Amino acid sequence: MKKKAAVIGYGGMGGWHVDHILKSDVVEFAGIYDIKEERRALAESRGIKAYASREELLADPEIEMVTVAVPNDVHEEIVIAALEAGKNVLCEKPVTLSLESLERMIAASKKAGKIFSVHQNRRFDVDYLAMKQLKDSGEIGEIINIESRIHGSRGIPSDWRGEKAYGGGMLSDWGIHLIDQILMVLGFDGIAGVRCTFEHITNDEVDDGFSLWLDYKDGKRAYVEVGTYNFIAMPRFYMRAKSGSAFIRDWRENCKVAKCKAWHESDVIPVETAAGLTKTMAPRDEITLDEYELDRPKSDVHDYYRNFVRAIDGLEEQFVTHDQMRTDLKVIMKAFESVEKGGERIEF
Ligand code: NAD
Repeated sequence: MKKKAAVIGYGGMGGWHVDHILKSDVVEFAGIYDIKEERRALAESRGIKAYASREELLADPEIEMVTVAVPNDVHEEIVIAALEAGKNVLCEKPVTLSLESLERMIAASKKAGKIFSVHQNRRFDVDYLAMKQLKDSGEIGEIINIESRIHGSRGIPSDWRGEKAYGGGMLSDWGIHLIDQILMVLGFDGIAGVRCTFEHITNDEVDDGFSLWLDYKDGKRAYVEVGTYNFIAMPRFYMRAKSGSAFIRDWRENCKVAKCKAWHESDVIPVETAAGLTKTMAPRDEITLDEYELDRPKSDVHDYYRNFVRAIDGLEEQFVTHDQMRTDLKVIMKAFESVEKGGERIEF
């Protein structure tokens, strides 16, 4: 039988969750609550039940699961209230704004004996999945480094994302997705240090773009960059490994792989540049290099709610675990610390 789910916060992402729940094969939609009367009225005009208060929603005994889709600064308060009311809670990202806050949320879920997880829905993005599958297959060997970038050209949105008090800024907004993806590829264990710098092109208060460097104890490295003032976007992913390189131009395109078949070359045809000839930087030929595209990975974002429901029933581990939530947020916290210290590398 489907479990009844409600959504708190009926804005952009709350609307997405309502549509998603209405199409779901595992959850049934109960209703929404939004602090703004006009949002509740809008829901009702669309035939969507709107509870008059958060208390009324949380007191509904039929609701087993609550999705929290409000600005980042109020996640903790609402998540804890929902857990204390005996609901399983799916919180939007970033889960909250400090590690202490996250520990209070985890403690509340343990006390209530209810599932509490965060919506890292970009684990279903096929560009990231291509990188993860390539790394996991071992096809191009041990990873040396990976670069993940997302570039827009419209500045930071002019809503609460532009204000510190709400937990705004691109590191918290897009950064948490890209960092979580990187840790899913390279691992949540063994991080040694984090370094970060911010951009303030369209907003002085919060970062409207950032660069983040992550290094591991075994020498692997990652670079994550979000830009909102890039009229030409750089490639979405670039990964180098001991036996090859991989590249994704943008999220609509396939992953291109170049696999080194033989290190030594008998004949390298030099490239002629204005300043002279180079053999070192000349491209390889098909005798030593295999170039191909990967099939697009299959993914279904509905699997997130499917897993959540199976986790409630004790049939599966939750898709985003508490330890993963801790490590994702710790990277964000270390990045803020690095920015405060002028871009210094911070031990993890
Ligand atoms: P939004 O401003 O469009 O909507 C937020 C809604 O929450 C508003 O309608 C507001 O009235 C309501 N609200 C504020 N305080 C409330 C409270 N105390 N109780 C009840 N309702 C309250 O913002 P959004 O873009 O929908 O973002 C909401 C959350 O979803 C954020 O945490 C954001 O980071 C996350 N988000 C996630 C994704 C994703 O892909 N996972 C995408 C966008 C946003």
